[in-house]
Amino acid sequence: MFETQSRRPMPHTTTPSDVSTAGHRSDPGCAEIPIATTRALAGLHTEIWVFDPERLRIVWANHRALGLWHAKDVDELRGRPLDDDISESTLRRLLQLAGMTAAGGSSFGEVWTIFDEPEPRTFRVWISGLRLVDGRNALLCEVLSELAETPERVRSADALSHTPVMISLYGEDTLPLYRNTAAADSIVRLGQPFAERFADPADHARLMEMIDRDGHGLATARILTCRGVRWHEISARRCRDTVGGTPALLVSETDVSRLKDVEHMVRHLAEHDLLTGLPNRTCLQREVTRRIEAAEAAGTGLSMLLIDLDRFKTVNDSLGHQTGDRLLMAAAKRLLATLHDGDFLARLGGDEFLVVTDADESAAPRRETTAQRILSAFETPLSIPDHDLVVTASLGVARFPEDGGDLDTLLRHADLAMYSAKEHGCNRAISFTREMTAAIDEQLTIDSSLRRALELDELELWYQPRLSTAENRIIAAEALVRWRHPTRGLLLPGLFIPHAEKRGLIDRIGEWVLHEAATRRRRLHEAGHDMIVSLNLSGRQFADPHFLERVERVLTETGCDPRGLQLEITESVLLGNDPTAVRILKRLGDIGFTLAIDDFGTGYSNLTMLQNHRIDTLKIDRSFVVALQDQPELTELILGLCRLLGMTTVAEGVETEAQLAWLKARDCHEYQGYLFSPAVPFDDFVALLERQRVLLTHRRNERSALNWPLAPLVDDDGDVGWSSGGA
Ligand code: C2E
Ligand code: MG
Ligand code: MG
Repeated sequence: MFETQSRRPMPHTTTPSDVSTAGHRSDPGCAEIPIATTRALAGLHTEIWVFDPERLRIVWANHRALGLWHAKDVDELRGRPLDDDISESTLRRLLQLAGMTAAGGSSFGEVWTIFDEPEPRTFRVWISGLRLVDGRNALLCEVLSELAETPERVRSADALSHTPVMISLYGEDTLPLYRNTAAADSIVRLGQPFAERFADPADHARLMEMIDRDGHGLATARILTCRGVRWHEISARRCRDTVGGTPALLVSETDVSRLKDVEHMVRHLAEHDLLTGLPNRTCLQREVTRRIEAAEAAGTGLSMLLIDLDRFKTVNDSLGHQTGDRLLMAAAKRLLATLHDGDFLARLGGDEFLVVTDADESAAPRRETTAQRILSAFETPLSIPDHDLVVTASLGVARFPEDGGDLDTLLRHADLAMYSAKEHGCNRAISFTREMTAAIDEQLTIDSSLRRALELDELELWYQPRLSTAENRIIAAEALVRWRHPTRGLLLPGLFIPHAEKRGLIDRIGEWVLHEAATRRRRLHEAGHDMIVSLNLSGRQFADPHFLERVERVLTETGCDPRGLQLEITESVLLGNDPTAVRILKRLGDIGFTLAIDDFGTGYSNLTMLQNHRIDTLKIDRSFVVALQDQPELTELILGLCRLLGMTTVAEGVETEAQLAWLKARDCHEYQGYLFSPAVPFDDFVALLERQRVLLTHRRNERSALNWPLAPLVDDDGDVGWSSGGA
C-alpha cells in the first residue's frame, strides 16, 4: 500500500468491481513497454502510468502523471522503490487486479487516494491490464476524475479494503455487484454467484430460507474458495444497492477454518481414548444410540461384546504401567484386526473394550465367530518391546433387542455375562441370560445394607486354625470376616469385600477387622494362648492416606502387641513397587507386625522380589494344594526356594490326609484347611485351644504329632461347619 508517505498514490477501494469494459491508449520511451504503446499514451490529457505489481515499481508515466507523482522524469520514477509503502492487503489487491485484468481483458474502476501535501487527494482511477515486453502483466492506471469525498467515506472505503472480513454485495440476479479485497481474494472465478460458493447446496438452501423468513441469516458452512474448501461463518441480510436502488444481498464472511480445526480436534480428543486412539465411552454413547435407532427402524438386531483382558492388573503391577500401556495398545490393534467392516470397537477404560456388531448381517453364527475370532486372536502372544505376553480375554455378550433396549442395560448385561466368563475360568465368551440379573439385585441390596452393617455391628471375625505340619498343633489362626446379614444369614467375604473395595468402604471395614483381631489376640494372650493371629489386608487399604494412623490408633486402643499380629497381603501390593506401599510396608515392619504373602502363586509369582521386603511368611494358594496330586513340581520348587530365603511356609486349603502327608514330607511348616477345621467363631476357636491344651498335657513324647479326635468338618453339601466328632 502506498500508505502515509506524502506524494504517494494510495489505491484503496474498488467501486464498482467485476465490471468489465475494454480498451486503452499509449506513449513512447520505456524498455518494458512497446514503444508504440507509450507513444500513443504520452499525448493524452489525463494522468496515466504503468505499474508493475510484481516488482513494485511504476515503470512508466506520462507527462501529467509525472506531475501528480512529483517526479522529474520517467527514469526517476522508475528508480523509486515502493516496497516499504505497500501494505500486504494493498499488494494483494494490486496482484488481484493484475490477474483479473490479464485473464479477461477486463477493466476496473477504483477509488485511490494520493497522500499529497497539504491534503490527500482522491481520484477515480480506471485500471486495465497491459502486457509488458517480457510477457508479464502490469496495470495501466488512468485518472478519470478527482473526487470530493468526505473523510468518512474515504476512511470507510479504506477500512473495507484492509479488513480480512470478506464483504460482498449480490444483486437480484444473485451475481456480485461488489466485493472487497478479502472477498475478491477468496473467489474461485469472477462473477461467481452466491449459491456457487457453497460446497453443500443444502447449506445455501438453509441460509436462504432463514433470509426469506427473517430478512437475515447466519450460517457456518463449507465454502469453495481458490484455496480449497474452507469453513466460513456467513452473515447475510437483505438490503438495497445504494447505487441502483435495487434489492440486494449484503454478505459478510469470516474464515473460521482454524477454529473448526481446533473444534474438530477437541471433539476428537473428547471422544477418543488418548492411549489407543479408539473411540471412548462418549463416542460409544452416540454411536450405539444411532445403531440402536437404525436397527429398530429396520427391525434388525445388534450384538455387544464386552471384552476384559484376563489378569491385566497383574501385568500392570509386575511389569509397570508403561508395559501395561503398551500391552493395551497392542491388544487394541489385535482387536481391530479381527473385526469386520462396519463393526465398532471402543475402549471403555482400563482393560475393557466393547465391540458392537450388526447382528443382522450375520445372524447368530457370526456372533459366535466374532467372539471366537477374538478369543483365538489372543492365543498368539502380544509382542511389545522386551516382552512377548500371552494375555487371554473374557467376553460377555448381550444382544439388542433381546437383552436390552438401551446402551446402559445392554452394557450392564454384557458386564454380567463377562463376569460369569471370568468366574468360569476366564478365556471364554458367555452370553447374557436372565438368571444373571438375580446377581445384580443382590449387589444392589448389598450396597445399601453394607454401610448399615458397620453401624449395626453385623460383621464378625471367624478364626481358622493354622497348624504346624510336624506336630499337628494349632500355632496360629487366620481371622476371616463374615457378615451376619439380618435376612440372608451368614455371608462370606467373597460376596461383599469386592463390593466394599469398589465402594470405598474397605478402609472402614479393614479398621474394624484390625480392631477386632487385636482385641481378640490380646484376650488369647491373657488366656495363656500365645499365638499369631493373621488378618487380611486389601490392596486398596494401601491407598488410604490415613491407613497408618488407623493402625496406630487401633494398637493404642486395644493395647495389643503388634508382634502377635500378622498382616496378609497379596503379591500385587509388592509388585507395583509403588513408593507409598513400600513406605507403608516398611513402617508396619518397624511397628512390629510380621507380614505374610497370601494366595502365593496366583499372581505373577516373583520370589526374588520378596527379598526386598521383610516378608516372613508365604501362604501357598489352595490351587497348588489341589494340584499336588498331578503337578507337585511347582509347589516343591516354591517350598525349596522359601527354605533358601528363610521364610515360613503355610499351605492353604488342605483337605486330605494325602495332601498333609506330602506337605509334611517336604517340611512345609504350617497348613490350614477343612481337613482340620474351617474358620469358626471366636468362642469355638478358644474351645479348640482349650482342648489342645488338654491333649498336650497328656502327650507322652514332646515332639510327637497330636492326634486330634475330630470328625470330618465339611459335609456332603459342601457346607463348612466345625464339629468335634468323637472327642
Ligand atoms: P484367604 O485369605 O485366602 O482365606 C482363605 C479362604 O479359604 C477362606 O475363605 C477360607 O474359609 C477358605 N478355606 C480355608 N480352608 C479351606 C479348604 O480346605 N478348602 C476350601 N475350599 N477353602 C478353604 P473365606 O473366608 O471365604 O475368605 C475368602 C477371602 O476373602 C480370603 O481369602 C481373603 O482374601 C478375603 N478376606 C477374608 N477376610 C477378609 C478381611 O477381613 N479383609 C479382607 N480385605 N479380605 C478378607
Ligand atoms: Mg488370607
Ligand atoms: Mg489365601
